[in-house]
Amino acid sequence: MSAEDANTAPIVVVGAGIVGVCTALYLLREGRRVVLLDRGEPGEGTSFGNGSIITEEAVVPVQTPGLLWKVPKMLLDPLGPLALRWQYLPRLAPWLIQFIGASSPQRVEEISIALRALLRGATAAYDPLVKAAGIQDMIKRSGWVSVYETDAGFGAYQPMLELQRRRGVKLEVLPAPELRQLEPALAPIFKHGVFYPDVSYTVNNFRFVQELAAAFVGLGGTIRRETVSGFERSDGGVSAVITDHGRTACEAVVIAAGAWSKTLTAMLDCRPPLDTERGYHLTLPSAGVSPRLPVYSTERGFVCTPLENGLRVAGTVELGGLDKAPDWRRAEVLFENASRWYPGLDRKNETKWMGYRPSMPDSLPVIDRAPHHHNAYLAFGHGHCGLSLAARTGELIADMIAGRESAIDMAPYRVDRF
Ligand SMILES: Cc1cc2nc3c(=O)[nH]c(=O)nc-3n(C[C@H](O)[C@H](O)[C@H](O)COP(=O)(O)OP(=O)(O)OC[C@H]3O[C@@H](n4cnc5c(N)ncnc54)[C@H](O)[C@@H]3O)c2cc1C
Repeated sequence: MSAEDANTAPIVVVGAGIVGVCTALYLLREGRRVVLLDRGEPGEGTSFGNGSIITEEAVVPVQTPGLLWKVPKMLLDPLGPLALRWQYLPRLAPWLIQFIGASSPQRVEEISIALRALLRGATAAYDPLVKAAGIQDMIKRSGWVSVYETDAGFGAYQPMLELQRRRGVKLEVLPAPELRQLEPALAPIFKHGVFYPDVSYTVNNFRFVQELAAAFVGLGGTIRRETVSGFERSDGGVSAVITDHGRTACEAVVIAAGAWSKTLTAMLDCRPPLDTERGYHLTLPSAGVSPRLPVYSTERGFVCTPLENGLRVAGTVELGGLDKAPDWRRAEVLFENASRWYPGLDRKNETKWMGYRPSMPDSLPVIDRAPHHHNAYLAFGHGHCGLSLAARTGELIADMIAGRESAIDMAPYRVDRF
């Protein structure tokens, strides 16, 4: 880096999804010069179409003990929460082995503690950002409810409820009549519900990212539409970010490129076991139902969230990598499931979407400094919880770059933990 670069170079954040935008905003609040680079517009990646939920209760990792034995049944169930592109299996195998390794009761306990440490205060971490953007009204603190159609399904979830209780998650078990009182829009097909009062949601997750990105620019940040293709390295650090538009000298770089981060970290000699769990959504602008709050099914793996632009039905997991075309039958599954909950659901003008959750095998994100480059930072792998954890991640990365000790133990989120 030249002397001039060293004096004026900004921190470059790669990726303007919800994680990159929140990180950029937190850095800007510290008085840093920040440039945010994305090959598309802010929020057009996976952050475009999620379930919009800020899930403070999500302390149960995806890989729960015994899940492996349920997988064959899930794969055979056409309405089930999981699908696999079999051709992708050989490439997925190393990730799957680590996924299984992270599902022992002891690991699940440890991981849930690490998830809780991040999730506690997830909504509060957004407070300064939404205030700066003037969009406090975009977050609704309604809580959400998970629903169970069968005693067996509810019974099977008891160990996970216990895990949530051990982590101090606030929850209230609701018998069917109370569930109906809480959410009258639901068909009377549920035997049990669990209400989580600390969960919130944003009324439009895409506009949310865009408003935060606009606030970033309004406060003096720079966003440029460029594709990052490499890094210039010197003295054990990154001195510049290389893109299709040229070279941007940097004081530090943060890789927040979601499911695509692995290609970039490989250029810094760092190869985390990041893969993707693809997910789908339908947005029904004239659904004809007015739910009071988001409703989630662990049995079916999807959520229905009342957004300002319609009912969002989002979820399911498809293991199939970043390259294969969407299988829109997964979106049909979402509709079939949702229309059982809300009979008469109207599909007029519906839109559908597929996105790539950036998933680590242990359900924990990477929030760390790169092992071989003193000024490269990593913020990706948030899996099912990227919207929930983005502001917390921004806060923690800002701490790291400022050299402040974090209030929580950061070891569980290290990139070299595998
Ligand atoms: C169906 C579904 C439902 C979900 N529901 C929820 C939910 O309710 N709550 C929740 O918390 N989470 C949810 N998630 C997960 C959440 O959406 C993700 O964890 C989150 O969006 C990840 O954000 P990100 O910023 O890391 O990635 P992204 O939003 O994907 O952003 C990464 C950005 O990096 C850019 N990029 C990549 N490579 C380059 C490059 N070389 N150069 C320049 N730019 C690059 C991309 O263009 C992209 O904009 C859901 C996910 C899915 C699929």
